[in-house]
Formats: sequence, structure tokens, C-alpha cells
Amino acid sequence: MNQEKTTRQIKALGLCSGGLDSILSALVLKEQGIDVTWVSFETPFFSARAAKKASKQTGIPVIVKDITPVYMEMMRAPKAGFGKNMNPCMDCHALMFAQAAAMMKEEGFSFLFSGEVMGQRPKSQTKNALRYVEKNSGIDGYVVRPLSAKLLPETLAEQEGLVDREQLLDISGRSRKVQMELAEKFGIKDYPSPAGGCLLTDKGFSQRLRDLLYVQKTESPRQLRLLKSGRHFRLSPECKLVVGRNRGDNKRIMDLYAPDVHVRLRHASMSGPDALLFGSIKEEDILTAARITAGYTKSKPGDKADVRVFEGDNTRQVQVVTPESGRFKDLLITKG
Ligand code: SF4
Repeated sequence: MNQEKTTRQIKALGLCSGGLDSILSALVLKEQGIDVTWVSFETPFFSARAAKKASKQTGIPVIVKDITPVYMEMMRAPKAGFGKNMNPCMDCHALMFAQAAAMMKEEGFSFLFSGEVMGQRPKSQTKNALRYVEKNSGIDGYVVRPLSAKLLPETLAEQEGLVDREQLLDISGRSRKVQMELAEKFGIKDYPSPAGGCLLTDKGFSQRLRDLLYVQKTESPRQLRLLKSGRHFRLSPECKLVVGRNRGDNKRIMDLYAPDVHVRLRHASMSGPDALLFGSIKEEDILTAARITAGYTKSKPGDKADVRVFEGDNTRQVQVVTPESGRFKDLLITKG
């Protein structure tokens, strides 16, 4: 341990997903007297909810940062490409580390850390994947992975004595046994499962995202957030319809409703979905949207249905024939 460690408090900044490995990596460093802080990033595709929960449980402070604009820029052409769905995991990691690296320099942290475990995820946690992230985030040598450090080359942070390598671990592989034992040792009882939480790995969400980016050609944060709720119909290359599936969906859709952006539709007298149209909207799109909306009410196929249309400050009513169930399923963006 060098002189620096004994004369000043070492501060480290960790990337936190809120999962057990993130929590343990921070606690392992904290145990050797390092002052740890987390950063957790948010976009329309993943949130910092689990990280905030982990912070509450451990008392480790978390900085939450929305990186949507820079993330969308990366999404246009991720250098290492996409995974099975719209998940650009390698470049996503590199971007997060680059963001954390800038914070490290600006806010006086000595090094970065993360909870990655060698070989736990076949693609994103191999030695090469970890190296890719460091090289492409401009932070070579200052990323410590406390859970697998002894299996990885010594970092500059270890060489400079900012962190004691002897007290770091050599966990590898997919078994969670050692992590479970450590969780018990540190009294951590409540943590989310390691997978999940990122919508970019979801097939249906990825289909809707691809459609929004490449057909509708928009990256509007509001429309990105709308991808999480409702059934999505492509009425024309320029016009899209989102229809709530249940009460929760209707609420989320209405929270994102903007009268200057969307045309809203709702059955005039029956309970049923809220529906939002957006893009370049023609009258025939409004009539199709009204039929689809009526199809999700109790109105019987073939019956006339009155649907209210809200356009900016104006409201009008259109009458359509309620379609047979499944009549418009070809327009659904998420198939299968
Ligand atoms: S799963 Fe999502 S958040 Fe995680 S690295 Fe991949 S793209 Fe990024």
C-alpha cells in the first residue's frame, strides 16, 4: 500500500445496475476502507430503480444520470453491432464507462469499479469484452472488477496501491454460490435477479424500436417511452397508432399524451382503450384508428360505434363499423 493510501481517503466510483454483483463489488472495496459511490444511468430502455433500491439498502450513495441523447447517438451505429435483439451491449458498456470516466476526472474519484464477473455472461463478460470496454471508453487501467480482479491483469489502480489486490476476489463462471455466501456475510437479503431490466434485450420491444427508428424515423424521447405500453399498429410509413391494452397501459399512454403531437381517440360511450395516433396523419388513418379502437370495446362486430377524436383543441365524433376480432392484426408491429 503506498503513501497516498495512508494519507488521503481513496474515493472510487462504481457502475451500479442494482444487482447482487454490483452491490458486492462495492462492499468488497468498502471493507478495505475505500469511500465508494455508485453511478447508475437511465434511458427509455433501462432505469436506475434497482440501483436506488440497492443504495437504500446499503447506504452507498448513488448518482443517477440520464444519458438518453448520447445513448441514441451510439444506437445509430454501435461499433460492435447489436446482440440478438436491439441490445448493443459492448458499446453500451463502453459508453457507460466513458460517462463514468468523465465523472471520475471531474469529481476527483481515484478509479472506477464494476461488478462484472469473468465468464458469467458468455459474450459480454469475457476477457476480450472487458478489454473492449476499457479501450473504447478511454479509461484503460483504472477499472477495477473486485469480484474477478485476481483473474485479470493488475490494474493501474492496484499497481499504485489505491486498492489492495490481496483483498480482491477470483470469482468466475455462472455459479452464484460464492456471491450467495458473500451476500450472507454482508447481510444482503433483497436483490433483483441478475438478468432482466433492459428492454433492448426484449424481442417485442426491439421490433417496436426498430420500427420507430427506421420506419417512422424518429428518436423523440416521448415516442421512445410510448414503446413500453400498448399495442402498436403501423398504419402507413408516416403514421402510427398506439392502443392501450388495460387500465395501466391507458394511464401510461395518457401520461405521455401531448395534444400538439398526438390525435387521441376513445369510444364515445363505452369503456375501452385510449388510443394515440402520431406522425403525418390523414383522414383515412383516423378512420382506421377509430375502427381499431372500437374493436377493443364491447361493441359487437358489425355494430356502429361512435368514437371521439381529439385533435389539438378540437373534439369531434366519427361513426365506424366495429370490425371482426383480428381484422387489423396485419398492421400490428409486434408479431409473434
Ligand atoms: S443488457 Fe441493455 S443495459 Fe445491459 S449492456 Fe446490454 S444494452 Fe446495455
